[in-house]
Amino acid sequence: VSALQASDPEIAALVAQEKDRQHRTLEMIASENHASHAVMEAQGSCLTNKYAEGYPGKRYYSGCAFHDEVETLAIERAKRLFGCGYANVQPHSGASANLAVQLALFDPGDTFAAIELSDGGHLTHGSPVNLSGKWLNPVTYNLVTDESREDWGHLDYDSVDRVCAEHKPKVLMTGYSAYPRTIDFARFREIADRHGAILWADVAHIAGLIAGGAHPSPFPHCHVVTTTTHKTLRGPRGGMILTDDADLAKRFNSAVFPGTQGGPLMHVIAAKAVAFGEDLQPSFRAYAEQVVANAKRLAGELMDRGYKLASNGTDNHLILVDLRATDPELTGKDAASWLERAGIIANMNTVPNETRSPFKTSGIRLGTPALTTRGLRADDLAEVAGFIDRVLTSRGDAAVIDAVRADVESLCDRFPRLSA
Ligand code: PLP
Repeated sequence: VSALQASDPEIAALVAQEKDRQHRTLEMIASENHASHAVMEAQGSCLTNKYAEGYPGKRYYSGCAFHDEVETLAIERAKRLFGCGYANVQPHSGASANLAVQLALFDPGDTFAAIELSDGGHLTHGSPVNLSGKWLNPVTYNLVTDESREDWGHLDYDSVDRVCAEHKPKVLMTGYSAYPRTIDFARFREIADRHGAILWADVAHIAGLIAGGAHPSPFPHCHVVTTTTHKTLRGPRGGMILTDDADLAKRFNSAVFPGTQGGPLMHVIAAKAVAFGEDLQPSFRAYAEQVVANAKRLAGELMDRGYKLASNGTDNHLILVDLRATDPELTGKDAASWLERAGIIANMNTVPNETRSPFKTSGIRLGTPALTTRGLRADDLAEVAGFIDRVLTSRGDAAVIDAVRADVESLCDRFPRLSA
C-alpha cells in the first residue's frame, strides 16, 4: 500500500482513475503531453519542503546549498537547449512568465502589438478579461483572410507592419496558442527594428519543436522569449523566461522575484532540470521531428476526407479543423464532447473568421505531442483520423461513438502510457 493510499484513500483512488483515463484515451489536446517517470519523481520529491526566495548564491533563507545546484543545473540546461545567454526558470506557469515580462517592460497603459485573440493568441496577449488587456493597451494584427490566396490562414506580415507603423507599440509580440504554421522570427525582428519595438516571442506551444530542431529558433532575433515547460518540452507544469540581453535578464529576475512571485517551487525547478536534460538527448530531436510528421499525416488524412483545416494544413504539432465547411450545424463544443465520449480528448477552438462565441466555436484543435510520446507514428495517426471522421459524421449517434470507443481502447492497449 502506498503512503498516499494509506493516508488518503479518496485522493489515491482518484489518481488511480485518472491514470486509467490517461491510458484508455487518446490525448490530442495540443498543449498537453506525458512527462517521464523521472520528471514526476523529481516533482514529487522533498525539494517541495524548502523556501528558497532569491536566486542561486543570493537566497533570503539558509539551507539552500542543494537548491542552488538544482536551479543552476536547470538554468544551464535551458541555456544550452535554446542557445541563449540567460534563463529564469522560476515562473510558476506560462501566464506567470508573461506577467513578469509585462511588469519588467511596461508602465500601465503602454501599447503593445499582438495577434487578434480569435486568430490564435493567448489570453495573456491582451485579452480584455486578462490583466494584459485591462492594464495595458493591446493593438492587434491578423492572419491572411483572403481564401483565394496561397497563404490564407498564415500570418499577415503586412498587417503586423501596418499596426506597428500606426501605433508605434513599445513591444511586438509573436508566438501563439493555436497557429499551425512556422513563425518567421527574422521577419518579425525586421519589422520590430523598423518601428523601434522590443520583440517578444511566447513560444509556449512550439518550445519543444525549437529545442528539438523542428522549428526555427527565436534566437538571435527576439529580445525576450517566454515559454511553458509542460507542453512540447515535456516537463513539469511551469514557465520560463529566456534572453540574450544582460540588462533585460536583470529586469526579468527582479520582475519574477520579488515583482510577481514569492518562493520558487524548487521541486518543479528540479523537474524542469530533469526534463531539459532529457530534451538535450539526441532522441528528443527524433521525437520533435516525429511530432511534426504525425501532425502532417493527420492533416493530410483529414483533408483527404474533405475536412477544411485552417491554413490548409500544418508545419508544426497542431491542426485546426474548421467544422463549418463539412457540417454547418456542428459546433466545436459538440464535436469535442462527441470525441470525448469516443475516448479522443481534444478541445473546441475558435478558427480564422470565427462566427460563433468562444463558448461554442466553429473548430476543434488537435495536437500530436502526447500521442507521439506514447509511441504512435504516422500510420497510427491515419487510423486516428479515421476514428475522428467516424465521430464527426455520427451526428452524435451512440452506437457509432461506442464502436469508435472500442477501437480507440484497443489502439491505446498497443501503446501503454509512459507516465507513472
Ligand atoms: N502562452 C501561450 C502561447 C499558451 O498557449 C499558454 C497556455 O496554453 C500560456 C502562455 C499560459 O501557460 P499556463 O497555462 O502555464 O499559464
